Amino acid sequence: MDYFEYRDGELWAEGVRVKELAERFGTPLYVYSKRTLTRHYHAFDTALGELDHLTCFSVKANGNVSLLRLLGGLGAGVDIVSGGELHRALTAGIDPRKIVFSGVGKQEHEIRDALKADILMFNVESAQELKHIGRIAAEMNTPARISIRINPDVDPKTHPYISTGLKKNKFGLDMLEAAGAYLLAKEAPFVEPVGMDCHIGSQLTQIDPFVEALKKLLAFADRLQFSGVDIRYLDLGGGLGITYNEEAPPLPADLGQAIVDSLAGRTLTVILEPGRAIAGNAGILVTQVLYTKKSSAKNFVIVDAAMNDLVRPSLYGAYHRIGEVTPKYREKIVVDVVGPICESSDFLAQDRRLPAVEPGEHLAVFSAGAYGFTMSSQYNARPRAAEVIVDGDQTTQARRRETYADLIALEI
Ligand SMILES: *Cc1c(COP(=O)(O)O)cnc(C)c1O
Repeated sequence: MDYFEYRDGELWAEGVRVKELAERFGTPLYVYSKRTLTRHYHAFDTALGELDHLTCFSVKANGNVSLLRLLGGLGAGVDIVSGGELHRALTAGIDPRKIVFSGVGKQEHEIRDALKADILMFNVESAQELKHIGRIAAEMNTPARISIRINPDVDPKTHPYISTGLKKNKFGLDMLEAAGAYLLAKEAPFVEPVGMDCHIGSQLTQIDPFVEALKKLLAFADRLQFSGVDIRYLDLGGGLGITYNEEAPPLPADLGQAIVDSLAGRTLTVILEPGRAIAGNAGILVTQVLYTKKSSAKNFVIVDAAMNDLVRPSLYGAYHRIGEVTPKYREKIVVDVVGPICESSDFLAQDRRLPAVEPGEHLAVFSAGAYGFTMSSQYNARPRAAEVIVDGDQTTQARRRETYADLIALEI
């Protein structure tokens, strides 16, 4: 459910005409809807009912500082995977005690910064990392709260690049190794093992893998209790899918209910780390048609947005719905929507039935609010897009368009 809709013959972002945004800010342009973000955040925040919980938005899905500030203002914490994301989160005013730090390759300076900020906890992904954190914490005379990321070996039934909870994936520890790590953590003077965590994958469209992982974690937590390790935070990661095309993923409320049912009688604080499910359908990428052309094999619509702006179609073969900003009635043809980049993998859609659009018109690429701008680059020396946030009939620029000067600013 989002607030991008066709009314009076054109596309609106809440109370603002998308065409007007394209003219005012230029294209390619990321447009986010505050009302949609707010709605999605609340869907998670209410999903767990009476359970003690924390919703930690995944910064890697969308790290724009204004967007993080907006979510922080609603009470959100964040899940970070780098020192840079910590910097974004702190700049946005996120409460450090609502920050969890995941990722397999945390570096010394990142660990120091996170300890200095006094974040809620580190989601530790290896025994070496645990020792490293313990040593730095001791040096800094600052306790490190940690959880161990468990690899529950659950098949999330999603795209292989975004599946993370299988034995063959690089993430987390299996339970045998994790048991050893918890005992190590318990003995380390500046380490407090307070949590248990998993994140099994992204764009999940079924509840079962979550429940299966949760059951494994709870059984493990019970066993740990006998060894004197008392888990207070249970972090189930993110991963809830969204509708890009015809997927029918569970709602946050469905996931919440399954968690509430499985946790009956326990006093744990549940952490969820949704990224895509909060931001994905809260953003669109607006682009302008440059040219159309027809080869003997295909029709092409060449637009001013490219794989450097939105890489998901090229990287995962991902589907993004594309629509006209000002629809007109005309015949539909099968086209590839492609960008100006010199790569054959530079496409936003392939073999898509679209109205026969013409140069100068604007198109909206939907469901682009997560893993859109954050995965963008300057490939082909293309300045990165601008980002705006719409709130009712008001629009604020959340990031200005990069300039040519920005492209070379750091080069000596
Ligand atoms: C990417 C990631 C998330 C967010 O995943 P979504 O599919 O966007 O909800 C949460 N936690 C961790 C550890 C991640 O790596």
